Amino acid sequence: MNNQENLRGQAILTINAGSSSIKFSVFLLPQSNQILVGQIDGIGGESTFKVRWCSENSEHTINWPHAKQPHNHREALSELIQWLHSAAQDVEIIAVGHRVVHGGQKYSAPTIITDEVMKELEALMALAPLHEPHNLAGIRAAQESFGDIPQIACFDTAFHRTHSFVDDCYAIPRSFYDKGVCRYGFHGLSYQYIAERLMTMFPKESGGKVIVAHLGNGASMTALKGGISIASTMGFSSLDGLPMGTRCGDIDPGVLLYMMQHEGLSANEISDILYKESGLKGLSGGLSNDMRTLEASALPEAKEAIDYYVREVKREIGALTALMAGLDVLVFTGGIGSNSAMIRARVLKDMSWIGIDIDEEHNLKGETIVSSPASKVLCLKINTDEERVIARHAFELTKQICDV
Ligand code: AMP
Repeated sequence: MNNQENLRGQAILTINAGSSSIKFSVFLLPQSNQILVGQIDGIGGESTFKVRWCSENSEHTINWPHAKQPHNHREALSELIQWLHSAAQDVEIIAVGHRVVHGGQKYSAPTIITDEVMKELEALMALAPLHEPHNLAGIRAAQESFGDIPQIACFDTAFHRTHSFVDDCYAIPRSFYDKGVCRYGFHGLSYQYIAERLMTMFPKESGGKVIVAHLGNGASMTALKGGISIASTMGFSSLDGLPMGTRCGDIDPGVLLYMMQHEGLSANEISDILYKESGLKGLSGGLSNDMRTLEASALPEAKEAIDYYVREVKREIGALTALMAGLDVLVFTGGIGSNSAMIRARVLKDMSWIGIDIDEEHNLKGETIVSSPASKVLCLKINTDEERVIARHAFELTKQICDV
């Protein structure tokens, strides 16, 4: 491991705990300089521990310090902390910021985690059964490993709590809305980062009508007016809206009834199909959930999967533009939005009716502005950074309760 002895001071650790992985990052205060990013994968099995110092380009694989694989999130986090202590001895973690997928109707802002907050978040697990339990496992593991330092929850749903009732509801009996069955929207930390970047990079345009397309393995699109979320393609769960790597996106609920009543599939089986076997993977006949593989494939199923993906992104641009009665800025972000010139080009093609004119060369080169000077809609490619948003929230809340 390289010598990081010049790094010293207080820092924020961010944690994004998934089912068998923990993504983490460290930001040195007070400037919030990101000093490292890493990921522990395969927790509970053959796990790997990789780290990249931001001062370098290459990634390092860390050997498990005790030649022992972690069995769970707690053991993985404990190993991570021990490694941090030895690799960055003069860096003191003063708070941990956690990505939490669901904050329900109540949590519209980052929150310091107390026993009471933890109880309320546990009650929300039914709303995001595939994500929330792992997020909470990460929090518990961090509480055990770090003792008393503040733990802060940053919610993916919080950014969308500004929606009006009609942008929030489903046309089912209202009693369900009162029980929390509504359109929450997700990827809020990414949207917040992009909204803030826009304000810095394009202050005039950022106040207008903006669509942000977060196209990653999970994907959604959000309409912003004056930097505030007014509608999003994801709704009650992270299944809704755009097709994703393995998730179905928009679907007629009648299909689910058919699966239950005529195919005899159980709720768990349907859940597996919709979350894990659908989207790009399902449409490509099981070939891949990865856009790079589909782009490189000559199979007709791969082409059709991409065709459907592009169709849905275009359709949602039209729908969100109609809701805002216009469009000034369109931003692409996420792994696909930031890296696939082909997807951006296909989405932006034949959109002159909305005022979009692509600059093919800028798009191919991956420049920030991908529209031509003549385009009425400013089209951009901006890399997102959810960890930075989490670190900032964690620092702000920690300053309120501690002397830092
Ligand atoms: P994310 O979830 O934001 O990390 O995005 C992950 C997805 O981005 C992967 O599943 C890939 O499909 C996609 N991706 C990453 N790089 C490229 C690329 N160069 N071209 C097309 N898709 C890409």
